[in-house]
Amino acid sequence: MSVWSRTWSWPKKTLLLRSPLLSQSLLAPRPSTFQNRAPPMAKSPKATTSRRPTRKRRASPAAVPSSADIEDLAPSGVLAGPTSAAPALRSGLLRWYDAHRRDLPWRFSAAPGREGREKRAYAVWVSEVMLQQTRVPVVIDYYSRWMARWPTVETLAAATQEEVNEMWAGLGYYRRARFLLEGAKQIAEKGEFPSTASTLRQVRGIGDYTAGAIASIAFSEVTPLVDGNVVRVISRLFAIADNPKESSTVKRFWELAGQLVDPSRPGDFNQAMMELGATLCSKTKPDCSQCPVSSHCQALALSHENPLVGVTDYPRVVPKAKPRRDFAAVCVVQIAQGLEQETAAGKCNFFLLIKRPEEGLLAGLWEFPSVLVDERKTDPLNRRKEMDRYLKQLVDIDVEQESNLILREDVGQHVHIFSHIRLTMHVELMVLKIKGDVGQACNKGQDSTKLKLVDESSIDSMGLTSGIRKVYNMVKAFKEKKLLEQSQMPTTKRSRRQKQ
Ligand code: SF4
Repeated sequence: MSVWSRTWSWPKKTLLLRSPLLSQSLLAPRPSTFQNRAPPMAKSPKATTSRRPTRKRRASPAAVPSSADIEDLAPSGVLAGPTSAAPALRSGLLRWYDAHRRDLPWRFSAAPGREGREKRAYAVWVSEVMLQQTRVPVVIDYYSRWMARWPTVETLAAATQEEVNEMWAGLGYYRRARFLLEGAKQIAEKGEFPSTASTLRQVRGIGDYTAGAIASIAFSEVTPLVDGNVVRVISRLFAIADNPKESSTVKRFWELAGQLVDPSRPGDFNQAMMELGATLCSKTKPDCSQCPVSSHCQALALSHENPLVGVTDYPRVVPKAKPRRDFAAVCVVQIAQGLEQETAAGKCNFFLLIKRPEEGLLAGLWEFPSVLVDERKTDPLNRRKEMDRYLKQLVDIDVEQESNLILREDVGQHVHIFSHIRLTMHVELMVLKIKGDVGQACNKGQDSTKLKLVDESSIDSMGLTSGIRKVYNMVKAFKEKKLLEQSQMPTTKRSRRQKQ
């Protein structure tokens, strides 16, 4: 079985909803489901502590996958609505945002007219998708390169998946890059950028969060968005102790965000909420003394009432699901042509790459031949047996014909952590010598779009996934060490070894 052909599924979520005890001071009325569950407002310190998500009293929450995507959880069709007590919070937050927001390349003012707004929408889309992957400083670099190459949605639509993968390399979760391209094609074909959250959600890969961001920031639709930062801010503002990954709690976050969003500056308000969560209202060290909405913050009020309560008790911490442990044999097959000296110097060498299936994890990306092996059978003998079988079936290379085999050695292990899998890769290097046409030898009866031979200089510049790049670098370092050892060996011993 190929490494990635095994299917996986999220652990089933069995979730517990605790009394939310949301404050009525800002927003009203609350949906009856929550109203029914909320106990009377506590006055005594003892009663107040019941609003705290204490570790002792908390029933053990169900584990949820660490990679649970806010886009996957967000419900559709949340309506925005002004509330009687929210204006003070909005104006305080917006004043702070105007004075303190970070200057980021995707935060430019849209030029007047449809074209300007669509340009802004594209910038928001690309940056938001990247920001779901990594931190702002890293995104700035990726975003700038991306925009220099594909400045409009139409130019992106004309790109190939491989070009997009190359640009995305290192960000991980390549499904998002694929969706960006597919979504761009969809929009370019239609000839118009959708401008409302509901129409944006019809674009491939655009979920509630991204739809909310584009619609509010680029097209000024009064619509909310909820990402991890907004979850943190809202759960503290309203002292929500429920499991933040549970779908009914997420729905509640969307409702509250929808009631809070500023009707005249929805895009700025949404960005301000995210900015607050990313800066002052951080996960572990919130700077409440500088916070523009501290007077509305229920978690802060509770912490003043009771020293046992801390604002960082919100949102509730949900244990991550343990990743599955997989083991793989990975073979970097180097096909050598030419003289042995040239081979040793890395000239006339080609590497065999296999394209992964179009669906599933790392879909459509290139990798070195890989097979899953049982945890109890990761010994070299078994790994090689499995790999030989795979190569025979894949490219009709018979490794047992020793005349073709120049070198086969274990290089080491690399552990790659995906959101839900901990993959231990046992890496070996196999150098084969093939006479005649290398391409023909490897493509015998195969679909040439699923495998390719890449020379050493091309592989250096290819957009490989970070796991595959690490494997390649391991092999490179291994070969360099071997060459060095050989060069330090006395000449007679070396020539004897070469003859063997
Ligand atoms: S007062 Fe503190 S905890 Fe509350 S929203 Fe502001 S920074 Fe976050």
